[in-house]
Amino acid sequence: MRESAAAQPVTALPGVGQALAKTLDRLGLRTLQDLWFHLPLRYEDRTRLTPIRDLLPGAPAQVEGRIEAVERGFRYRPQLRVAIGDDSRATLLLRFFHFNAAQANQLVVGTRLRCYGEPRLGAQGLEMVHPQYRHVADDAPIAIEERLTPVYPVTEGLSSARLAGVVARALQRLPQDAELELLPPDLRKVYKLSSLRAALEYAHRPPAQANLAQLALGAHPAQRRLAFEELLAQHLSLKRLRARVRQHAAPVLRGGGELRRRFLAGLPFAPTRAQRRVAAEVARDLAKPAPMLRLVQGDVGSGKTVVAALAALAAVEAGFQAALMAPTELLAEQHFRNFQRWMKPLGVEVVWLAGKLKGKARSAALAHIAGSEEARPAQIVIGTHALMQEGVAFRALALAIIDEQHRFGVHQRLALREKGRAGDGVPHQLVLTATPIPRTLAMTAYADLDVSIIDELPPGRTPVTTVAIANARRHNVIERIRVACADGRQAYWVCTIIEESDLLQAQAAEAVHAELTSALPGLAIGLVHGRLKPAQKQAVMDAFASGKISLLVATTVIEVGVDVPNASLMIVENAERLGLAQLHQLRGRVGRGSVESSCVLLYQTPLSAMARQRLDVLRATNDGFRIAEKDLELRGPGEVLGTRQTGQMALRIADLARDADLLPDAQRLGTTLLDRDPALADKLIERWIGQAARYAGA
Ligand code: ADP
Ligand code: MG
Repeated sequence: MRESAAAQPVTALPGVGQALAKTLDRLGLRTLQDLWFHLPLRYEDRTRLTPIRDLLPGAPAQVEGRIEAVERGFRYRPQLRVAIGDDSRATLLLRFFHFNAAQANQLVVGTRLRCYGEPRLGAQGLEMVHPQYRHVADDAPIAIEERLTPVYPVTEGLSSARLAGVVARALQRLPQDAELELLPPDLRKVYKLSSLRAALEYAHRPPAQANLAQLALGAHPAQRRLAFEELLAQHLSLKRLRARVRQHAAPVLRGGGELRRRFLAGLPFAPTRAQRRVAAEVARDLAKPAPMLRLVQGDVGSGKTVVAALAALAAVEAGFQAALMAPTELLAEQHFRNFQRWMKPLGVEVVWLAGKLKGKARSAALAHIAGSEEARPAQIVIGTHALMQEGVAFRALALAIIDEQHRFGVHQRLALREKGRAGDGVPHQLVLTATPIPRTLAMTAYADLDVSIIDELPPGRTPVTTVAIANARRHNVIERIRVACADGRQAYWVCTIIEESDLLQAQAAEAVHAELTSALPGLAIGLVHGRLKPAQKQAVMDAFASGKISLLVATTVIEVGVDVPNASLMIVENAERLGLAQLHQLRGRVGRGSVESSCVLLYQTPLSAMARQRLDVLRATNDGFRIAEKDLELRGPGEVLGTRQTGQMALRIADLARDADLLPDAQRLGTTLLDRDPALADKLIERWIGQAARYAGA
């Protein structure tokens, strides 16, 4: 039988040799099918020639004209300036900064050029910098394109034009719908899915009259048809991943509940109804011989740690170990101290492991975790991602808890699970997140997880009042701190700068610390940032927690989890640059006690309309879900989920925010397909996700 075109290697195409195949491989393009589904990023309209007179700054266009003047200059760097004119009796300046001698020699007065580029307003009128251009011989005019020109995502050593040629050749082998289409006709009818072949042809080469604005928005029905299939494939892939995990066995954690009862009795509060409900959902999962995969969502301060502790104790009661992994050392340390305080009276052994733990202390911790020591083996292990590193072996890990999931990617999650592999068994997995993810999005991004929601805050919390103040009124804010602290309250001042570097952040925080120290004489002001040693950080945090320090200047290291109930005022600098979810997290550090709390968002002027809108959202609501929905609307899912998640999603054409309305149908159809024809589901995954789907042998 003839091998289907879809599976043929790219080298089956004329002009694609081993070298090009290797380059294509870097883009994940191995088969003809991969090429068919490698869709343009955007389009260029070369279906018409625009008279130079009609060019508009910022609107890409194609022009044709004769060179009227050429000038080489060396103002700051070598430069080639070429003026062309056309029948509209207007002149356009082309500017080149990179050019070779041969190129320059060919650009002589009188030559005809066809150029495509984006005109902008220069000192001498309209100009194009580095336009794409071709020479046009007077006796051999070039026809204009009949279709829009696709611009493809490329990689080093491969131009979009070259890739377009390869894709065009691949498209010539696009089979008829009957062979191409994977979805059964009856289901296509139900979900109103048009011809895949037509959609692909349109998306690769839209006709001249296509609506470029609609295409740019990804809103054309052909694009939506493809986006739908991609979302379907994504959903299926995560469902598959989940099903594969479910095939493994997991330890049945059905202890007597004695430790859990004593733990709850020792708490200074009673769990909320929501905490009890979620803890019960978790306990039910843990008692089954299949691995739990559960995401617990709960707004900042909803008390997720208690739920995590109850789950860990279920593992301990059954004679196994639990591990709790947090994204920052500060948060991991805080968990460690909480757990020590809670577990000591119960006689449960809690062990600490972080990357900074070195030498003897590290080997001792590892021995504890492996249970190879005389001493009692660790029952609960708490740490950072150091827990997943090589050399960390657990004696009997039955539960992996991951706090603040949005900071980790799927792969890291899977890696911790690998740690607990014993024969066919894998540990249960509990994921905690304070970033509430809109439901449809969660079902796609976390389709491999069940979701529990803690939808209630502990009683006695007072809502945080939020105001936005321009940095010009900084002195008023400082005065406000003085008054609050004189009143026995405590405050955070959070310094945020965009630079990712610890060092720059620390320097910015130090500068603010110095500024506030001189502006607020007599006030005890602490400083904490990522460059401090763990012990130093801890000393500052302890001093703040015990009230010895009134004002804490901090970088965003305090973003997650830090818990000092007496702190009731928070200032966030450069608030306009942060994401809503992050601001909401930060704000969650106050409003934990019974005093009225407030949050001041300091911003730099001028504020863009978008930034203004975002700060307004925070002023208007304390509801994490509402904020997340808004964030999604305003910024898109990449920001909401964190880059790692969307990196993992690696969507080619679908956009989770733009195409969110397609998700419910994609999810419904996904469920039907998995029931009806799992092999077909595999083909869809292979088509859209290909190699990427084969994550660590789940
Ligand atoms: P988050 O969900 O943000 O991780 P935490 O688990 O850190 O929240 O809890 C926030 C604070 O609320 C902690 O000080 C914790 O001890 C306290 N807390 C948790 N549950 C309750 C409850 N049911 N009643 C009162 N306080 C609680
Ligand atoms: Mg927490």
